[in-house]
Amino acid sequence: MKRILVTGGAGFIGSHLCERLLKEGNEVICLDNFFTGSKSKIIDLMGHPYFEWVRHDVTMPYYIEVDEIYNLACPASPVHYQFNAIKTIKTSVLGAINMLGLAKRVKAKILQASTSEVYGDPDIHPQTEDYWGNVNPIGIRSCYDEGKRCAESLFVNYHNQNDVRIKVIRIFNTYGPRMEPNDGRVVSNFIVQALNGNDITIFGDGKQTRSFQYVDDLIEGMIRMMATGDDFTGPVNIGNPDEFTMLELASKIIELTGSNSKIVHLPLPQDDPTQRQPDISLAKEKLNDWQPVVKLEEGLIKTIQYFDQLLKDPK
Ligand code: NAD
Ligand code: UDP
Ligand code: UDP
Repeated sequence: MKRILVTGGAGFIGSHLCERLLKEGNEVICLDNFFTGSKSKIIDLMGHPYFEWVRHDVTMPYYIEVDEIYNLACPASPVHYQFNAIKTIKTSVLGAINMLGLAKRVKAKILQASTSEVYGDPDIHPQTEDYWGNVNPIGIRSCYDEGKRCAESLFVNYHNQNDVRIKVIRIFNTYGPRMEPNDGRVVSNFIVQALNGNDITIFGDGKQTRSFQYVDDLIEGMIRMMATGDDFTGPVNIGNPDEFTMLELASKIIELTGSNSKIVHLPLPQDDPTQRQPDISLAKEKLNDWQPVVKLEEGLIKTIQYFDQLLKDPK
């Protein structure tokens, strides 16, 4: 049995990861400051004898003995990471330093939840891991993008200087049950708007693209990455290469919910990437033929069911 620390464990992805790690017979410590996470996401795990949760902020040092660390603590939705931009940078950077210091002290393996945002508004398509990205260092997304880029640099340097066993994954847009209705990201926004019969808010002309990954596929990729040998550190893209425009996503969600909602166009936020699609050749090669198996429609149906239930019976 391994003892595993999951920072950001009470968030959308973190709660799925804690659940999966417990199912595999591990002891799990979920660390979270509940900024965007909530106890409701981990309530079903709380009775598990090998599950512990801790209210703690990763910007502060934390001492524990563990075998593995998954570092997910960081708000991920533009609305939330821009709410307190300085705090977002501190969470990414100081959080990475503290968790790397911990990994160094106890010789734990540590995985960083990095992001496709390190590629910024990419001018190569699809994005491969050797692309350095096109990020505006002073724009409204920079607190998140540069925070995550600095964290990647910290990971690589703790590996090179201190032999810390690191794993860096670059996660592309992920969705699924346990997203917050007010999370602000596009899939949850459109589904909640459609179910409530409200206008669907497309930012800009809706021709920008994203490639959406269902959360179960991501969790499988994370577990496989952690299990790779110490010589493979990443970064590796984990995402679904099926690419859609926001107009296509909106129509799909209207169709699947049977909603009467109308599409309205709002201004496009600054620095909003125009296209995004992962090249997943490296993940396939290094992660035992890993690739996403859940198609957009199938994943959306499950996510719509989740929100439908949640809106009828808010927890
Ligand atoms: P989320 O907002 O649901 O989860 C983030 C969690 O981190 C929350 O539970 C929050 O309370 C916690 N947190 C934030 N600041 C903290 C701090 N200072 N100390 C302790 N806990 C803190 O978002 P998510 O989608 O589950 O994202 C999880 C991770 O995956 C993030 O690091 C995010 O950057 C990364 N990621 C997500 C996506 C995606 O599409 N969902 C894409 C790329 C990367
Ligand atoms: N740290 C931590 N938990 C540990 C070990 C270290 O939170 O178990 C923090 C520590 O407070 C420090 C950071 O991690 O601020 C980086 O640790 P490192 O050993 O790399 O740096 P140093 O302590 O030498 O500054
Ligand atoms: N978006 C939108 N309407 C919304 C929320 C988002 O059209 O209500 C757009 C947003 O401008 C972006 C895309 O959807 O082009 C994905 O946004 P999200 O915040 O989910 O993720 P990110 O931009 O970080 O990839």
